[in-house]
Amino acid sequence: MTNLLILLQNNTPNSSFINILSNVLIGIGVLPFIYLIFKFIEGILIDYAGFGPLFRHFYLIKRDLKPNQKQILESSFKFYRQLNRKEQTYFRHRVYRYMSRVEFVGREGLEIDDEKKILVSATAIMLTFGYRNYNINLVDRILIYPSTFYSNIDKNYHKGHFNPGFRAIIISWEDFKLGYDIEDDNLNLGIHEFVHALHIGYLHDKDNETSAHLFIKGLEELNSSLESNSLDKKKMEESDYFRAYAFENNFEFIAVLIETFIETPKQFKSQFPDVYLKIKQMLNFNFVGY
Ligand SMILES: [Zn+2]
Repeated sequence: MTNLLILLQNNTPNSSFINILSNVLIGIGVLPFIYLIFKFIEGILIDYAGFGPLFRHFYLIKRDLKPNQKQILESSFKFYRQLNRKEQTYFRHRVYRYMSRVEFVGREGLEIDDEKKILVSATAIMLTFGYRNYNINLVDRILIYPSTFYSNIDKNYHKGHFNPGFRAIIISWEDFKLGYDIEDDNLNLGIHEFVHALHIGYLHDKDNETSAHLFIKGLEELNSSLESNSLDKKKMEESDYFRAYAFENNFEFIAVLIETFIETPKQFKSQFPDVYLKIKQMLNFNFVGY
């Protein structure tokens, strides 16, 4: 027994290993503290210096799409084509993650193929690409109908709908596709419904999540500028540029404004430069073309 103890002592994992292990454990222990300091500094810079997130991309394991899925982005998603090579790899990683997390359900016999999964996921990823956290917490499933669908909630036909209770976005594929086939009519069903999902989710998270804070703070500033007449809401209402539905309520307002911002940024910037800048800041949308 004594011999065994001596043997064990002699073979004790050497002290340098224990030192490394204890340093790692101490390091892990202080990580939350460092993260809190980082968030505090980032919050100050966002609120008082107009910064966006201090960094947006950090992935321990970077994933990629299959060649045919990349091809769908290349051929059908203008925003992706305009990104630089590095940004495109981040975009594809996020699309991969998003597709893996969300459940896609085809309705009325509609088959869910890669085109549907990629284009719907890319819409979500485009809207949150200016942020570090790209989760859309209130959406767990995407229900896709071939065309307009009947809803028992209001006994009416719809092209799209966001249902926070069911944590689902429900869309007509025909109308979703039209949103991208006609790129400059300021109508995009996918963008519209995802903005509703972001907006409602962010209202809950605005005090402790950077993406939510940027979005809601930007929207509140935009609304107060319009209410105090430092921005001209009447001019917006009377112009033909924004469709009338924008002025139904605050949810439709921001959804239509972001559809318009994404589809015709040059026109938006020249006609309503101050409003354009607010949207660009709230989405942290510093990409080619915007
Ligand atoms: Zn709407």
